[in-house]
Amino acid sequence: MYNPSSMKAEEFIDHQEILDTLAYSDEHKNDRELILQILEKAKERKGLSHRDASVLLMCEDEELNEQIYKLAEQIKKDFYGNRIVMFAPLYLSNYCVNQCVYCPYHLKNKHIPRKKLTQEEIRNEVIALQDMGHKRLAIESGEDPVNNPIEYILESIKTIYSVHHKNGDIRRVNVNIAATTVENYRKLKEAGIGTYILFQETYHKESYEHLHPAGPKHDYAYHTEAMDRAMEGGIDDVGLGVLFGLELYRYEFAGILMHAEHLEAVHGVGPHTISVPRIRRADDIDPSTFDNGIDDDTFAKLVACIRIAVPYTGMIVSTRESKACRERVLHLGISQISGGSKTSVGGYYEDEPEDEDSSQFDVSDNRTLDEVVKWLMEMDYVPSFCTACYREGRTGDRFMSLCKSGQIQNCCLPNALMTLKEYLEDYASPDTVEIGMQLIQKELDNIPNPKVRSIVEEHLSDIHSGKRDFRF
Ligand code: SF4
Ligand code: SF4
Repeated sequence: MYNPSSMKAEEFIDHQEILDTLAYSDEHKNDRELILQILEKAKERKGLSHRDASVLLMCEDEELNEQIYKLAEQIKKDFYGNRIVMFAPLYLSNYCVNQCVYCPYHLKNKHIPRKKLTQEEIRNEVIALQDMGHKRLAIESGEDPVNNPIEYILESIKTIYSVHHKNGDIRRVNVNIAATTVENYRKLKEAGIGTYILFQETYHKESYEHLHPAGPKHDYAYHTEAMDRAMEGGIDDVGLGVLFGLELYRYEFAGILMHAEHLEAVHGVGPHTISVPRIRRADDIDPSTFDNGIDDDTFAKLVACIRIAVPYTGMIVSTRESKACRERVLHLGISQISGGSKTSVGGYYEDEPEDEDSSQFDVSDNRTLDEVVKWLMEMDYVPSFCTACYREGRTGDRFMSLCKSGQIQNCCLPNALMTLKEYLEDYASPDTVEIGMQLIQKELDNIPNPKVRSIVEEHLSDIHSGKRDFRF
């Protein structure tokens, strides 16, 4: 029986409920009246249940689909304006004892170079990332209790926060490591992490077990219940995700929304972010061997429907996706993107020799951060390097209640403009500076409160004189 308040994975991700949802959405996908009712409900900006959202996902009527896209776009605008938060991944180690069949770091891959960064190497990587202009990282590591124990992760986080090169500063470290114990989550919280990210990969238990034939990750319940342990350990912000292509996308869509419903029911706060990676080619991985791949149109629909279903949840798209695809989904709901990413262990400080490629997957968008920032601004987006909420203690339900009341908007644009100005002063190319300065000038007029606007103007001039790190 589906029970969002249950602490058991198989009850809050109830297989039969997902099958019933798929049948229900098939049955109603051309039910115009119902779809219009769901759209009306969605306009209240309070989100949708997994069942209602699944009907929208399956809708085949072109005119109604137009309405779905328009609403997603409007919700995106209302909650996130034209700001896009920037981040980069930092791979610490690709030693791994798991056997995920879609990832080249699986234990049985004997030819991929195994690497683990030393603290000195981490320092170099962080300096290189700071020199690009990054302020927010997501650290990644394989699961290996001997090579990458929690102590190594904690030490690495400490190192990252300790590096201050020129005006560089990593102000938020999000962590993407294997499911672990409440005690370890508590340690991560104490180390000052931002979001704890863990991709479910697939919510389909049988497929999950098949795709993870051995190793600690084989345990579906332990993996699926990880976010509850993270929250018990004091981590307020958790990030969900599935790897699209492994299972039927409609199954995953219902599953991830049920997971969000569960977090809301039990902890009073839904996921901070949802990531939407699609399976990519990598060392010994051929994506065509997975027969659930989704095309760009379906991907866009998926993004739009997630945006409508969970308006307060940030959505992330990485450099797995091409420039064209990223451009398409940005306005439908994506609020965070990576730029200038390396998906290998090391590689920011020094290029990896070709015969030593340790990448987890091939990157589709190979542009530099400066190129990505410029591209965003040319489309009238404001790239933001803001990390203010986490540093002001606005996490978990405090963040969500601010978000739901609309108050957060008074912080986001000012912070985006001030952090963009820092980026332009310290790292941007002359062309990017030119576009950026014009954009900041134009966007200042969109700060509704005159008092806030004048404080921002003052800070922008302070930033020009060399001061840093202003925030609301
Ligand atoms: S997905 Fe993660 S756990 Fe699985 S093999 Fe790759 S690094 Fe290891
Ligand atoms: S103010 Fe908070 S919600 Fe807005 S961009 Fe900054 S960190 Fe994100």
